[in-house]
Amino acid sequence: MLNKKDYDRLKAASMAYFEKAGIVINEQEKAAFQVAEYNLGCVDEIGLELIEYVNTDRCCAKELVLLPGQTCPEHRHPPVCGEIGKEETFRCRYGTVYLYVPGEPVEHLQATLPKNRAQYFTCRHEIVLHPGEQYTIYPNTLHWFQAGPEGAIVSEFSTKSRDEYDIYTDPDIDAAQDRTL
Ligand code: ZN
Repeated sequence: MLNKKDYDRLKAASMAYFEKAGIVINEQEKAAFQVAEYNLGCVDEIGLELIEYVNTDRCCAKELVLLPGQTCPEHRHPPVCGEIGKEETFRCRYGTVYLYVPGEPVEHLQATLPKNRAQYFTCRHEIVLHPGEQYTIYPNTLHWFQAGPEGAIVSEFSTKSRDEYDIYTDPDIDAAQDRTL
């Protein structure tokens, strides 16, 4: 579980990123600010911060913040209740994002694999996103991503988000217990 001190610290850092990027977050959204901690106890390494703008039966939009080197762990969005899984598009707004999906692996990753957990990051096909660049992840496709040295803000546009059904490669992450993407 994330303690209040870490939550407050990550919230303050995230708000500073939004301000730097000129993204306005209203008071209601600020109050509902979330940290995905993944229950691994290393939120600065594996974790991310987010604000959810909307999540209806069909559409979802979120703003994600990743601090320098912070990583969203590898996962996929499987079919749920007879519907195909979540589809999501990531658009970089600030900083650099290293995104990994199935495909031809790169020889040298630009991301740094999290210590002691490298085996749970199996996708090595690298996509680098700068501000104004985006990439779509289709349902049930493995993916993970990490911010570059300046941190990153990523807008996420997707079909309905049902985080509790997400499947993580790392067996120590239980999607039902945490906010995820
Ligand atoms: Zn995802």
